[in-house]
Amino acid sequence: KRSWIYVPYDRLTDRTGPLHEQQPQATGIVMMEALEKAHRRPYHKKKLALLISNQRHFALEQAARGVKVIYMFTKGIFADGLLDAQKTFELAEMTTMKPAERELRLDLEEARRRGVRLKIVEDTTWLSTEADFDGVYAKETTSYVMDRFYRFLRKKREVLMENGEPSGGRFSYDADNRKPYRGQPRVPTRPEFPPDEITREVMMTVEREFPNHFGTLEGFDLPVTAEQCRHSWHFALQHLLPFFGPYEDAMATAETDLFHSKISALLNLSRILPGDVVDDVENAYHAGLIPLASAEGFIRQVLGWREFMRHVHRRTDGYRNIAAPRQKGQSVATDSYAGATPSALDARLPLPAAYWGAKSGMNCLDTVIEQVIREGWSHHITRLMVLSNLATLCGYSPRELADWFWIAYIDAYDWVVETNVLGMGTYGDGGVTATKPYVSGAAYIDRMSDYCKGCAFDPRKASGEGSCPFTALYWTFLERNSERLSGNIRLAMPYATLRKKSALERRQLRARAEQAIQELGSARYPESAESN
Ligand code: SF4
Repeated sequence: KRSWIYVPYDRLTDRTGPLHEQQPQATGIVMMEALEKAHRRPYHKKKLALLISNQRHFALEQAARGVKVIYMFTKGIFADGLLDAQKTFELAEMTTMKPAERELRLDLEEARRRGVRLKIVEDTTWLSTEADFDGVYAKETTSYVMDRFYRFLRKKREVLMENGEPSGGRFSYDADNRKPYRGQPRVPTRPEFPPDEITREVMMTVEREFPNHFGTLEGFDLPVTAEQCRHSWHFALQHLLPFFGPYEDAMATAETDLFHSKISALLNLSRILPGDVVDDVENAYHAGLIPLASAEGFIRQVLGWREFMRHVHRRTDGYRNIAAPRQKGQSVATDSYAGATPSALDARLPLPAAYWGAKSGMNCLDTVIEQVIREGWSHHITRLMVLSNLATLCGYSPRELADWFWIAYIDAYDWVVETNVLGMGTYGDGGVTATKPYVSGAAYIDRMSDYCKGCAFDPRKASGEGSCPFTALYWTFLERNSERLSGNIRLAMPYATLRKKSALERRQLRARAEQAIQELGSARYPESAESN
């Protein structure tokens, strides 16, 4: 007699949890593709193909281990498929790990309401527990600081610690990791994984079922088998991470991915586990293969930010229970798929067509968007300092931007995308997640990228013809929000500079910013896209 486990799309691992603990011959798994979920948002085609192909390969890998597999297709939500599986195969009970994704938790609650016997156990893929986080931050906390939790986890798990002190004497090497990239060292060529028969079938299904979804399947070469996922990680560990730290904030047109591991999508599907990557990087550091600043920079992303964001999402119920003001007239039903709409800076303009591929003429924006349409991915500084920065400066709705990222990125799920966009990227939560808005003018982008060299705008000009929109948008953003932000100690310097600007200069900046917002609002799609 077998014990049954429900394995959702994002927990594709037998290295921890119930599937790890049980003998394959005594285990059955239920897996599912739910059409309604994939139709809920126009997800990037590559995201759907990556997820479904990995899921199908995982099912076959488990069958090869001797696990019995029930693989269901449902037109509805997961609750429909689970009820169907329980009835058809007369399953007494299914066990599953508590999902990180709020949406899936809702579906599973619905399944239980309909009579599905589902036992939910702790999700052991994470590096921290709910109790860890709740112990660091008091219940009534309204502002979280990642660093506290990161230090706590470094000590608790003894990661990069020596005799109770952080390796090298510091917990963070962020300050060492801000180099622009000038072509050296050369970026190694990544392994490619051309589609096998299963992936090709998945791609055909995606094209047939979701023809109008975002992005393209062209050039699909993402890892889909357990072996490919491992290979992809080991390549990154060996060839990319030694250079990751210094260039982690750099942006380059010809080398869009630089030394980023690009494993976030695989981590978020549990194809590789955070515990393994943290151990591997720490071991490589001790073996002298990865410098400390790179090792620490990477570990902070996985052990720090990734864990932190998941807990903040849980504690705030996806920002439903925070005090930050919502847009007028909008309330959020806590049991619905509709996301929370915190907008502490009262940003409410609709996201312009430039985010969907219309050309803006801003080289930084157009270059990053092109990559996202092609790959469903771009690295974290392009997300933060180009896409989110521009949206925050212009006053685009944080909710619309969060939904856009959720749709467009292959690694986006509610627990990570809502915290990163509503919180960190736009300050929509009013400071629950970040101590200040992450905004900048053209100078930052010019220093950290080569985008400005190929741009029609001049990053050194703040107003007048040919001036870069970012700088005028930056100053008018500060001016517009001075009541809310000028008291923030971390913004003391820019506000001091703003106060020195003459009335005329401020007027010119305001006029340039208004023009930029108007022009972005009327950006046109390239002819080839319009004729499609
Ligand atoms: Fe972007 Fe301005 Fe630089 Fe152009 S000049 S690439 S718009 S920052």
